[in-house]
Amino acid sequence: MGTVEPQVAADAQTPVTDGFHLVIDALRLNGIDTIFGLPGIPITDLTRKAQAAGMRVISFRHEQNAGNAAAIAGFMTQKPGICLTVSAPGFLNGLTALANATTNCFPMILISGSSEREIVDLQQGDYEEMDQLAIAKPLAKAAFRVLHAEDIGVGVARAIRAAVSGRPGGVYLDLPARLFPQSIDAAAAAKSLIKVVDPAPRQIPAGEAVQRALELLKGARRPLILLGKGAAYAQADAQIRDLIEKTAIPYLPMSMAKGLLPDTHPQCASAARSFVLPEADVVMLIGARLNWLLSHGKGKTWGGQSQKEWGAQKFIQIDISPQEADSNVRIDAPVVGDIGSCVSAVLAGIGPNWVKPPAEWLDAVAERKNKNLAKMAETLARNPVPMNFHSALAVVRDIIKANPDAILVNEGANALDFTRSIVDMYRPRKRLDVGTWGVMGIGMGFAVAAAVVSGQPVIAIEGDSAFGFSGMEVETLCRYDLPVCVVILNNNGVYRGDERNPTGGRDPAPLVFVKDARYEKLMEAFGGVGVYATSPAELRKAMEQAILSRKPTLINAVIDEGAGTESGRITALNPTAKKK
Ligand code: ADP
Repeated sequence: MGTVEPQVAADAQTPVTDGFHLVIDALRLNGIDTIFGLPGIPITDLTRKAQAAGMRVISFRHEQNAGNAAAIAGFMTQKPGICLTVSAPGFLNGLTALANATTNCFPMILISGSSEREIVDLQQGDYEEMDQLAIAKPLAKAAFRVLHAEDIGVGVARAIRAAVSGRPGGVYLDLPARLFPQSIDAAAAAKSLIKVVDPAPRQIPAGEAVQRALELLKGARRPLILLGKGAAYAQADAQIRDLIEKTAIPYLPMSMAKGLLPDTHPQCASAARSFVLPEADVVMLIGARLNWLLSHGKGKTWGGQSQKEWGAQKFIQIDISPQEADSNVRIDAPVVGDIGSCVSAVLAGIGPNWVKPPAEWLDAVAERKNKNLAKMAETLARNPVPMNFHSALAVVRDIIKANPDAILVNEGANALDFTRSIVDMYRPRKRLDVGTWGVMGIGMGFAVAAAVVSGQPVIAIEGDSAFGFSGMEVETLCRYDLPVCVVILNNNGVYRGDERNPTGGRDPAPLVFVKDARYEKLMEAFGGVGVYATSPAELRKAMEQAILSRKPTLINAVIDEGAGTESGRITALNPTAKKK
C-alpha cells in the first residue's frame, strides 16, 4: 500500500479536512480497502465518501450479516475486517457478530456511529441514544472511543493492533456523530495518522518449552496431532505440512482446519476420530482449544471412565495465548508463541534421526480408518427417493473435489454435521462454518465476504432453518453479482420436518416450516438463478452450472422430511432431546 494523501474537502477555501476523511485515510493507510456495513444516521456519508475514495463498500440488509462478513474476512486475510453500523439498534445488531468474532479469535473491528457523550451520559434521550462503549466492552477484546478528529489516527491504530496481535479478536470503535464533520488542518491531519508497524508481531517460543514438547513427542507410542482453526488462521501451511509429514504422526483437523492438508492425506485420521482420541498417549494441539468441541479434553471421548475423568493422554499445546493452557486439563508442555514460529522451532528439533511412531499404532489407525471409509462409501452410493443428507452431499463432495479452490460455507444442525464428515476439503481456509459457538446465521454474511475477498466461487450448504437467519442477503448476492451458489438442504423444519402439533390444534409444531417452501424463488426475485432439485442428478447439474456461470444461484434441494436427528450430533447437550 503506497502513501495515502489526506482527502481535502472539495469545497474548502483553506486546506482542511474532516473526521469523515480522516477515518477513511486512516483505514486506507493501513491497507484496509473494504468496509462491510449498513448505512444510516450518522454514518451514511462515511459510506459514500469511502466509496468515492476508492474503498469497496459492501452494504447489507442487516448488520449482523455485515458483522459476520467482516469477521470471516479477518479470518481469511489476517487483516481486521471492518463492519460499519449506525447507532443503538444497528450497533446492537452488529454485536452478535462482534462477540462471535471474539469467541472464535477472528480479527474484526465494529465501527459504530453513536450519540454525543454529554447527552448519553445524562440520559437525556437522544435519537438512538445508548452507552455503546460500555455495552461492547465485555463482548470485545478491546473497545475505544474517539472524540476529536486529531485522535482518529491513534484510535484506528489501536483498534487494528488490538484486533490482530496476540490472540485475534473483535474490537469496538465508537465514533460519535459530531466527530465526523469536525474540520482539521490538512497538514496536521496527515501527521496525526499512524501506519501501524508490525501489527501482529511474531512471538518466538522459549527454547526450553520447545525442548519439553520434543521430549514428550519423542517418547510417545501413540502420538496424535490436532489442528484447529488457529492453525488455519496462522497461514503457516508449509511448516505444518512439513511437521506432519516428517514426523509421520496421524493428525485430526478440527472443522475449519480441514484442508490445511488435503482430507485425503494418508495421515489424516478424521475417519478414525473416535478411535484415535481415547487411544492416543501424547496429543499435540496446534491452534485448537480443549473446549466443548473436544469434550474438554476428558471423559469417555478421551478414554476416561466417566464424563468427568481425565484420560491418560499427555498434552502439548501450541498457542499464542499464554493463558490457554490448563483451561480444562493439565497441559504437560505448553508452547507459547505464534504457530509459524512454534512449528518451525519444533521442526528444527525433529532432525533426520527422527523415529516414526510404532507401526502398531499407525496400522491400527489405518485399519479403523479404512473400515469406516468403506462403510461411508456404501452409504453414499445409495440413492434413496426422496434424497437424504448423504445422497445430496455425495454430490457436493464431488463438486468440491473438482473445484478445490471453491470456498465452502456451512451451517445448520444435521446439514453441518453431515457436510463436515462427508465433504473432503483440499486446500487451507476453504471451509468456513459456525465455529466455536455453533452459531446459526453466519451463512450469507460469510458467503458474501468469501466471494468478495477471494474472487473464488462460494458454495454455501445451508440447513433450511439456518438459511432463514440471513436469507434476505440473497438480494446482496445479486446486487454485487457474486459467484455464490446456495444449496438449501430442505427437510421442512428445524432438525426435521415431520413433527405434528400433539393437540391437533391449528398451529403447526414449533419446529416445522411451511411444507414444500419454494426458497429458490427468493433468488429469482432479485435476478439470480433459482433451481428446484429433487434428485442428486438435478442437484449436480445445477451446481455445475452455478460454478461455470458464476451467477448467484439458490438450489432448493428437497430431502426427506424425516431425515435428521434432533440437535444433529450434539444431542447429548440437549437435555430433553427425543432420540429417534
Ligand atoms: P478449533 O475450534 O478449530 O479447535 P479454536 O478456535 O478453539 O480452534 O482455537 C484456536 C486457537 O488458536 C486459540 O486458542 C488461539 O489463541 C490460537 N491462535 C490463533 N491464532 C494464532 C496464531 N497465529 N498463533 C498461535 N496460536 C493462534
